[in-house]
Amino acid sequence: MAVYQTSLQIENLNGLDKKYYLHPTTVPKKFIEEGPKITFHKGDGVYVTDVKDDTYIDGVSMLWNVNLGHGQKELAKAAYEQMNTLAYSSSFYGYSNEKAVRLAEKVVSLAPGDLSAVFFTSGGSESNDTAFKLARFYWHLNGRKNKKKIISINRSYHGATIAAGSATGIDAFHNFAGSKDIDIIQAKSHLTNCELGDKSDPNYEGCIRDIIEKEGAESIAAIIVEPVQGAGGIHISPEGYLRAVKDLCEENEILMISDEVICGFGRTGKMFGIDNWEVVPDIMSVAKGITSGYAQLGGVLINKDIRDTVIQYDQILGHGFTYSGHPTACAVGLKNIEILERDNILNNVNNMEKELMKGFDYLSDKHPHVAKTRTLGLLAGFDLQADRDTDKPFDESIRAASFIVEECFKRKLILRAADFEKGKNIVAIAPPLIVNKEEIEEMINIIDATLTDFKKTLI
Ligand code: PLP
Repeated sequence: MAVYQTSLQIENLNGLDKKYYLHPTTVPKKFIEEGPKITFHKGDGVYVTDVKDDTYIDGVSMLWNVNLGHGQKELAKAAYEQMNTLAYSSSFYGYSNEKAVRLAEKVVSLAPGDLSAVFFTSGGSESNDTAFKLARFYWHLNGRKNKKKIISINRSYHGATIAAGSATGIDAFHNFAGSKDIDIIQAKSHLTNCELGDKSDPNYEGCIRDIIEKEGAESIAAIIVEPVQGAGGIHISPEGYLRAVKDLCEENEILMISDEVICGFGRTGKMFGIDNWEVVPDIMSVAKGITSGYAQLGGVLINKDIRDTVIQYDQILGHGFTYSGHPTACAVGLKNIEILERDNILNNVNNMEKELMKGFDYLSDKHPHVAKTRTLGLLAGFDLQADRDTDKPFDESIRAASFIVEECFKRKLILRAADFEKGKNIVAIAPPLIVNKEEIEEMINIIDATLTDFKKTLI
């Protein structure tokens, strides 16, 4: 196959990259020394090809967002047609556009319970910031101005803006800039029994319940949870957990926000992650999968009570983004949902989940360091442990997850490691929702080979 760019052109491109382009979630010093790890050029289905014409399986849908896969022509056509008709228009000051209206109606029709209106943003962080503001606005309008604190959960990822970043329970995302909203507090534990009321749980200290008691319910506006923690290491809410959080919210007059930025639009095999537990949040933030990453779009859904409250008063909702309700992004969102439904993508997610589980069974039978395999739809991961029978982690000097991800990359499979937590080595897998059985087998075979190599490094 012809090389897209000559090595000289690539060298030039890398030089420009190092000189001018400051990359997100990258160590700048390392980037200047090493240059880009890969420069993508094109994509097709679950595959992406770089400027050297090397093709990789995208095992994490880039940033858990390219749900309908790469090179989806219908999405491109929807964007092209909308750009030719009305590329952009504002939604401020009462202006509107048809695609935003139709997408709002569609998203509300898919959402659980009485979620009944949507505020559009340009992505997940903006959605969570908006969710916090709307929660505070709601309490403000109800005459309870003190209810403004937000509780989030350890190991969660909610974005990188100051508010969403403060809610993110991974230190690296706020420590570096020293800015954290003091009204956003992290509960120390997640997925332990404490939210279910078991005080004998060793992690009970610092639970949501304790924070409510300490801070006082009258100061708390909302609790934000991911139904499945993604970046934090694929932690699936255990049975009863989200219901317990919702009950806690109701008891204490606190709003529950479900962060569906990863889970929304089919990733977990249901339209929204929280649908797996039949809990209805008061607020839901979405992004990523709403357009499969083909256009920058997010949104916040609010329940009927919140909507009824905000429409009651003659008070400006002084919030919005230039790209709120962007017609091109909304046209792509509409087409994306149309394809999700038309092609019964959720069915494929549920079938491929079984294939992935089979693959995981095979890997854990063969490789004793593979532990805690888990999948919900096509959001999956496993731990690597020194001894899985005794839950013993690897020594900190052994970066097992990074090793596997690096070796898989050499074998042309893109995965993601979650190893920011001491002693934790988690490998995340989240292929596009259109993945087929053969492609899953290809991924499992590559992981299998890298695990065999990993074992050799331990001798
Ligand atoms: N919420 C969750 C659960 C996410 O995974 C992310 C991004 O990965 C965000 C919010 C932030 O979204 P964005 O990067 O679009 O701002």
